[in-house]
Amino acid sequence: MAEPVAVAESITVKELADKLGLKVTDLIGQLMKQGVLATINERVDFATAEAAAEALGAKLVAEAEDKPAARKPRPKVGQGQPRPPVVAMMGHVDHGKTTLLDAIRQTQVAEGEAGGITQHLTAYQIEYKGRQLTFLDTPGHEAFSLLREHGAHLTDVALIVVAADDGVKPQTAEAIKFAQQAGVKMVAAITKIDKPAADLNRLKKELAELGLTAEEWGGDTVMVEVSAKTGKNLDKLLDLVLLVADIEELKATPTGPAAGTVIEAHMDRGKGAVATLLVEQGELQPGDYLVSGATYGRVRRLESTDGRELKAAGPSVPAAVAGWKGLPEPGRQFKAVASEKVAKTEAQAEARLARPQNLAKSIGAAPLEAAIAAAKVKQLPLVIKADVQGSLDTVIKSLATVGNQEAEIKVTGHGVGPISERDVHQAESGGAIIVGFNVNLPTQIKQQAARAKVPVRIYRVIYELIDELKKELESRLEPETIETSVGTLEVKGVFRITRQLLICGGLVKAGKISKDLVVKWNTDKGSREIGVVTNVQKGQADAKEVVEGEMCGLSITTKDKANVKVGDELELISRTTKAKKL
Ligand code: GDP
Repeated sequence: MAEPVAVAESITVKELADKLGLKVTDLIGQLMKQGVLATINERVDFATAEAAAEALGAKLVAEAEDKPAARKPRPKVGQGQPRPPVVAMMGHVDHGKTTLLDAIRQTQVAEGEAGGITQHLTAYQIEYKGRQLTFLDTPGHEAFSLLREHGAHLTDVALIVVAADDGVKPQTAEAIKFAQQAGVKMVAAITKIDKPAADLNRLKKELAELGLTAEEWGGDTVMVEVSAKTGKNLDKLLDLVLLVADIEELKATPTGPAAGTVIEAHMDRGKGAVATLLVEQGELQPGDYLVSGATYGRVRRLESTDGRELKAAGPSVPAAVAGWKGLPEPGRQFKAVASEKVAKTEAQAEARLARPQNLAKSIGAAPLEAAIAAAKVKQLPLVIKADVQGSLDTVIKSLATVGNQEAEIKVTGHGVGPISERDVHQAESGGAIIVGFNVNLPTQIKQQAARAKVPVRIYRVIYELIDELKKELESRLEPETIETSVGTLEVKGVFRITRQLLICGGLVKAGKISKDLVVKWNTDKGSREIGVVTNVQKGQADAKEVVEGEMCGLSITTKDKANVKVGDELELISRTTKAKKL
């Protein structure tokens, strides 16, 4: 047996493997045999390490002094009691996030009653092996923008969902980059492995290129191959997500006034403004007074996101809250305060501060020159309706990035809920297009819009919305003119027939000349456009084209009576237009 290896009271799996000169995967395999499911960065205690080392033919001795921990745990909100991890589902559209989450939720008994106050299940809490996990699943870009702004704070583990049959796509890369930058732990869920087209090797290679290397390839990324369809490895996925989260030692104070983040908000026909809140500290209870930004309210009803009434919601628990005076803004913090008076005062103070920052672009605030320039800017006026406040904000924010100095999108109206008669009137008076995101267009409103000649476009996918409106805006740009010099003629003879028709004979000095080219007259005083070639003659006959070195006669339709003389140079220009891109 080799020399005993000294290790501290606890050691990460990777450090231990390095010290013993073993492959990480062999060590993880041995630990599993011992019933210890540990990932590469997780710490095991000395006894566990010793048993594993022995089984693999090595010997450990306890190090005399404790070394400082190899890495500090990421600072987390507060201290206190352990709390459930918050896991953000991220990945390319159609890669199976929703299906995977549905499958995960089916692993437990669903007790939710239909008809709860949550329309958009954006955050779920599930119980697995007696432990709680919170999943955040805001669709597509909403998740990104919410997480980008509040990412590290909100998310403990990013679950990168990537379809085995499709591979890494732009949003997969974007999700990975976000997690890397925010320092959020990742678990890769390679899904749809039941599909015949699944190509795991290619996918792992693509992931490795982005810095996610599977453990079996010597890296430290936890990857699980799953199928939401057959249910394969879902339990393993949850085990590993919990393991990764455990490394973080997540804690929060479960008592006292609640505080946290607004995940989503929408108007409910019967219940008014409803918001999904993620509690981060303290305990949220019915009757609590809440304030978030410029909005406040009192918890009238507290529900889990699958519609069960809750008596209280503690750290990491997502809860739907009815009782708001207005729609809180997703991504904003909320907190419970002592009384309605305090809530109202704080909300009003915030409202005064926030007033100038209107989401819709306002010309009034811009300096005069900018306002004058803006008057020349082509505008695409839009009335935007979305299903929930979160989507509306995302749509408006995303559209604010479309446009340039020449053309821009102007949001003339926006709101949450189905498209209404009022929207049609508003769009008609402002010459706007109505854009609906995840909303319905009732038949009578559709007819009304058709009568008023107001275009209505409904989208379910944010990228399509952005792409199409970008194209629409592009179509309003003046096309770009492209001029190419294709030939020059040295004038040998000039015959002015009428004020509009000039015939020039001459030698093609360079390039070639044909019909429809624009004629520029180059003189000492500069160059001036004088007309267009309407006919080309070579000898006595009409010619399609004459080339360098040939003599020709050109019929030129002129705008003015240009006094072209023998010896002058004419330059022939091809002019085309090209639609401009933003
Ligand atoms: P999302 O846009 O990421 O939420 O993707 P969805 O969950 O809507 O899934 C997109 C499509 O992939 C749907 O047609 C699903 O039925 C299908 N899908 C998702 N997971 C699996 C899987 O594990 N196996 C197979 N065969 N199809 C899947």
